[in-house]
Amino acid sequence: MLREPKSFFVKVRCNKCKNEQIIFSHPSTEVKCLVCGEVLALPTGGKATINAQVLETLK
Ligand SMILES: [Zn+2]
Repeated sequence: MLREPKSFFVKVRCNKCKNEQIIFSHPSTEVKCLVCGEVLALPTGGKATINAQVLETLK
């Protein structure tokens, strides 16, 4: 099931509205804040560029 062992989830806080959201570390599309629509993570083909405050890494 887990073919990418380095992938994980991170809990982030939106810089704009402070919403906390759990996002995937290796998204294939932009991840947006569910509240305000701010882009939280940009796909890079590997680990995302996270554009939010990382609170916690979840395994
Ligand atoms: Zn937001």
